[in-house]
Amino acid sequence: MGRALIIGAGGVAGVVVNKCCQNSDVFEEICIASRTKSKCDALKAKLDGGKTKIETAQVNADNVDELIDLINSYKPDIVMNIALPYQDLTIMEACLATKTHYLDTANYEPEDTAKFEYSWQWAYKKRFEEAGIMALLGCGFDPGVTGVFSAYAAKHYFDEIHEIDILDCNGGDHGYPFATNFNPEINIREVSAKGSYWENGQWVETEPMEIKRVYNFDEVGEKDMYLLHHEELESLGINIKGIKRIRFFMTFGQSYLTHLKCLENVGMTSIEPIMYEGKEIVPLQFLKAVLPDPASLGPRTVGKTNIGCIFKGIKDGEEKHYYVYNVCDHQECYKEVGSQAISYTTGVPAMIGAMLVMNGTWCKPGVYNVEEFDPDPFMEALNKWGLPWKENFNPVMVE
Ligand code: NDP
Repeated sequence: MGRALIIGAGGVAGVVVNKCCQNSDVFEEICIASRTKSKCDALKAKLDGGKTKIETAQVNADNVDELIDLINSYKPDIVMNIALPYQDLTIMEACLATKTHYLDTANYEPEDTAKFEYSWQWAYKKRFEEAGIMALLGCGFDPGVTGVFSAYAAKHYFDEIHEIDILDCNGGDHGYPFATNFNPEINIREVSAKGSYWENGQWVETEPMEIKRVYNFDEVGEKDMYLLHHEELESLGINIKGIKRIRFFMTFGQSYLTHLKCLENVGMTSIEPIMYEGKEIVPLQFLKAVLPDPASLGPRTVGKTNIGCIFKGIKDGEEKHYYVYNVCDHQECYKEVGSQAISYTTGVPAMIGAMLVMNGTWCKPGVYNVEEFDPDPFMEALNKWGLPWKENFNPVMVE
């Protein structure tokens, strides 16, 4: 059917590339382009021999002109941004200049401020409409599948949804005292920030890790989870009509939290540049350099993830509860694509989103979040492409 340009060659991109090759009727040709071309070539070497034709390229995605040249020479149907949130706007600019569809998995975050929100990307809506191209934002698992789950609940089970709790549980163990499951810099910025949730049309801010709950997750067991700010709260607060409260919880083990506190206390998680032996360094970037590469965790991570949404609302005048979630096994993912489940649960939805844009199922000019489309084809594709979901109509609710 077509060709995709995949930008980035890290943990998540590895899964995207594998999944596109499994779906070669849609992804007949792909180009993997990243800052370090050897990583693109290594991915290609692992996969060559399948039906999808793979090319590789070097690109600095902070540079709009370089991106435009690459897009013009490769002429993809869609650009999949699987690099970092810092590159969202430059890649969107290049897509506008070349009239090419765009997809990403994380919303824009300026490199020098630990703050992420959709306003920067939503501001492109009119220009994308006028150019006749589409941007699909936040198409990983959370954000991504959590938005699809919300649209599915709204379409099939509720007249009105009043509350959503998104629960992200990683019951995996990689054996290191401290490591992050995706890009350490982005991950640590996210979890060391203040928490917040959406209630009655406004944000309620909390101290980092201030709100803790314990939940017993299917196929994982009981885990401590903490309320975080998360990007889909912002779009779901607008797109799910009648919503009164949305919260996001993520599980963390005690070892992770103790290490994080210690690193924070000594200043290692700061993004303020400091001088070291005559050179300016950012402590958090230095920390990233000494931590295990998330892409290397695959072989050693055992256990499962369980990510989903619990809804409370009204159907036919009665209060109703509904929980939809996916359980993913780290070792199964590793056997299939050579990655742990966090990269897998992000990469599979990115492939599905690109497929739906390319085959026209989800394609309209403008800038959209996933919950703005018909969830049914996406839900079907999740079952088909490795992320089957389960439903519970009588879930334990989070206090
Ligand atoms: P990695 O750090 O493993 O990979 C990032 C890749 O982007 C690397 O190959 C890196 O190149 C490349 N890159 C960085 N800067 C540039 C640049 N300026 N130009 C070109 N390439 C660049 O990250 P992950 O794979 O773990 O995460 C990828 C994305 O997925 C992130 O945006 C993350 O926030 C998002 N994510 C989303 C989730 C969701 O559920 N929605 C969950 C988890 C992650 P190099 O190798 O040279 O450094």
